[in-house]
Order: sequence, then structure tokens, then C-alpha cells
Amino acid sequence: MYAGKIIERGTAREIYANPRHPYTLGLLRSVPRLDEPRRARLDPIEGQPPDLSRLPGGCAFAPRCAFCVERCVVETPPLRPIGASSHVSACWEAERVRAVREPARERTSPQGGSRT
Ligand code: SF4
Repeated sequence: MYAGKIIERGTAREIYANPRHPYTLGLLRSVPRLDEPRRARLDPIEGQPPDLSRLPGGCAFAPRCAFCVERCVVETPPLRPIGASSHVSACWEAERVRAVREPARERTSPQGGSRT
């Protein structure tokens, strides 16, 4: 959940192995992993949660999102199916999130998103 709304839903395997929302990806990157070498620092999610009494238009995560594109600040993304499973994500860029999802031992950063 983010800003009071479900932003991704699926089985534990789907969510942990194949997160398809940037917030979920950020959460997973901000916790220690037992299957990786110990790192000095974790990757926090930049920015602050929105004021729930004054939510912006479009996607509530947009001000903090490295994948944000113009559409994100205009249209609120609905929960949409990811493939044929029960996995759903409320992200216009869910395909791009998958594309940068790193193998267990690599860290990559999203490229090509234009912030508005
Ligand atoms: S809809 Fe846009 S701003 Fe919201 S999480 Fe997806 S890419 Fe980021």
C-alpha cells in the first residue's frame, strides 16, 4: 500500500521475485538480504510520503519515483494485471520496472524516465 491505496498485489513469490511497482522495488532494496554479501548501506526510498489530506493528481508516488513519466502526474494508474497471474500493479511503467529488476546480485538503476 502507498498513500492509502493498494499499489501492488500478488503472491509472496510474485512480489519478492518480480516486483512490478517502483515503491515495492524500493522497499525490497531498503531491507537487508540474507542471500547477498553484507553491504555498508541500504538504499532508502528518496523523498517523503505525501500529505494524505492534499494528495497530488495522478500517481501519489510520482514525486519520489525514478520511473516517473509525464503521464504519471496526470492520470492515476489503476491496478492492472501483470501477465496471466493474479499479480496486479498500479503503475503505468510496470513493464519498465520489470526490465530493470536486477538479478539477485546486481544493482541497476532505472534509465530513460523523464521527470516532470
Ligand atoms: S505510475 Fe509512474 S510515478 Fe507512479 S509508480 Fe508507476 S512510474 Fe512511478
